[in-house]
Amino acid sequence: MENKEKVVADIPLKCDCGEVQGVAREVTPGSGNRVICYCDDCQAFAIYLGRADDVLDEHGGTDIFQLTPSQIGITEGQERIRCMRLSDKGMYRWYTECCKTPIGNTLSAAGPFVGMIHSFMDDRESRDRDLGAVRGYVGTKFSTGALSEKIRKRGFPLTEVIRTVYKLVLWKIGGKNRPSPFFRADGTPVSEPYVLHSRVGVDNRR
Ligand SMILES: [Zn+2]
Ligand SMILES: [Zn+2]
Repeated sequence: MENKEKVVADIPLKCDCGEVQGVAREVTPGSGNRVICYCDDCQAFAIYLGRADDVLDEHGGTDIFQLTPSQIGITEGQERIRCMRLSDKGMYRWYTECCKTPIGNTLSAAGPFVGMIHSFMDDRESRDRDLGAVRGYVGTKFSTGALSEKIRKRGFPLTEVIRTVYKLVLWKIGGKNRPSPFFRADGTPVSEPYVLHSRVGVDNRR
């Protein structure tokens, strides 16, 4: 259809131990939103899983790629997917039961995106090429230690906010929330979320 060179990748998905596997289809740098999130909730999730050391970067950031649920296919270990929420109204935070690999974050079944966490994407070698550069940095006030000048200056620019909202609206209109590996057709989560009512370990608010 078009000749413009475009790298479209099907990215393998895999938990650390390999029991849960899948694929994220038709990913390009332009197809989703790559951000680093420093928020206390994302940090709390990594800590809850006992994975802060390898999920979070040196400043408590999580490398996340937003894509649509419909792009994700789980090929093995679907039954090992688990869910937790940091509060009754918190995001649905998905992980694997086997080795506590964080998968990603979603809203309810109607939400048209998954914030997929780098740990579940088997793309260490090709991540920058497949997903492009990080577009912005969010939740920076919760970062641990001082962020670089570059990150503080960039933050999450208005152009990226607009781009993200635009994507979410398109995904919503296009019904890209389905099919989802996380919610059944009737909207119920595939694994009953465990709601954490008291959290430990994160208080970096400044
Ligand atoms: Zn595993
Ligand atoms: Zn976050």
